Amino acid sequence: MIKTLLLSEITDEKISQNTYELINIANEISDEVSLVILNFSDCKTLSKDFDKLYVDFIYVLTVPPLNTDKGIYNIDTFVISKFIESKNYDLILLSKTEYGSIVGPRVAFGNKKEYLSDCVAINLRENGFSITRPIYGGVANADYKIPPGISPIISFRPGLSLSSSDIKHPIIEEITFEYSCQQHVKMINEFNSMDENKIKLEDAKIIVSGGRGIGGELEFKELNKLVNLLGGALGASRAACDAGWVDHSYQIGLTGKTVSPDLYISVGISGASQHLAGCSMSRNIVAINNDKNANIFNVARFGVVGDWKSIVKSLISTIEDLNIR
Ligand SMILES: Cc1cc2nc3c(=O)[nH]c(=O)nc-3n(C[C@H](O)[C@H](O)[C@H](O)COP(=O)(O)OP(=O)(O)OC[C@H]3O[C@@H](n4cnc5c(N)ncnc54)[C@H](O)[C@@H]3O)c2cc1C
Repeated sequence: MIKTLLLSEITDEKISQNTYELINIANEISDEVSLVILNFSDCKTLSKDFDKLYVDFIYVLTVPPLNTDKGIYNIDTFVISKFIESKNYDLILLSKTEYGSIVGPRVAFGNKKEYLSDCVAINLRENGFSITRPIYGGVANADYKIPPGISPIISFRPGLSLSSSDIKHPIIEEITFEYSCQQHVKMINEFNSMDENKIKLEDAKIIVSGGRGIGGELEFKELNKLVNLLGGALGASRAACDAGWVDHSYQIGLTGKTVSPDLYISVGISGASQHLAGCSMSRNIVAINNDKNANIFNVARFGVVGDWKSIVKSLISTIEDLNIR
């Protein structure tokens, strides 16, 4: 009997798309699936979604009113750790989002568990499990065996699985924890550099990403017109972020975000392996670059060689003419 625990994420007071994807992955390999929801404020709005979740148990973990300076990651780490101490799960799955990438390793370290990040598949074997991870910037996949007796924490790349549409009627339990963790990190301020209506990079079906070839901050605003027209999200290479043209929260790659949208339009990006590590699992990559030998063309399904400004300009006017959106 394989028991799996999932760590949910909430976006705009709704269970996130990534969480539904995790539910789908977990149901393929598990006999029993539990979902943890961390309820720091009023999560009554969420409860109407509970019956739509194809899981056996939902645990709503609450903590008494907080002092904001305690830091959400500290509290989440503490509460999840406390919860799993008393349970016996074979697998704990979470999404490789910014949140998952901070909380997952902390929980694993504190609970002396193995942590496997950025997985794209998991399979049952006669003896234990195997997981698949992209390596060398996504040009190859490696399979790793997880022997029986190990119950790791695994982060999954968002956007790779379909979300579950089946319905189960889960048993819901609410557990309250007293937060009493020694404070090592003090939250001074929390800010969100994203635009108000911005689609999260990890959730976006279409991403338009700019690199050093874009040339500057103003030019990024031009690129953003295409983003808005397509209803997608803006991404960037590290070179563009390091230049200060866009905030680092837009960075895609090894040291940035990992994305797998349906369409990834790369503009003025050379395709260094560290960049591809974050986008190579996209379903369709379209590259615009004025160097026909740029590495990005090796992974692109469609490529356009030329100056990005004129290409993006004509793309914008074609989309407007077609009135696609
Ligand atoms: C440890 C480590 C981690 C890293 N992590 C990341 C990461 O997470 N993400 C990341 O992106 N990088 C990362 N990097 C950096 C990475 O190695 C590259 O330096 C970076 O991706 C290059 O960005 P770029 O493609 O925008 O710039 P460049 O390599 O300079 O490429 C610019 C491209 O634009 C094209 N171009 C120029 N002008 C035009 C024009 N007018 N029209 C069309 N095309 C044009 C050029 O032909 C060129 O191909 C990391 C590096 C290290 C060492």
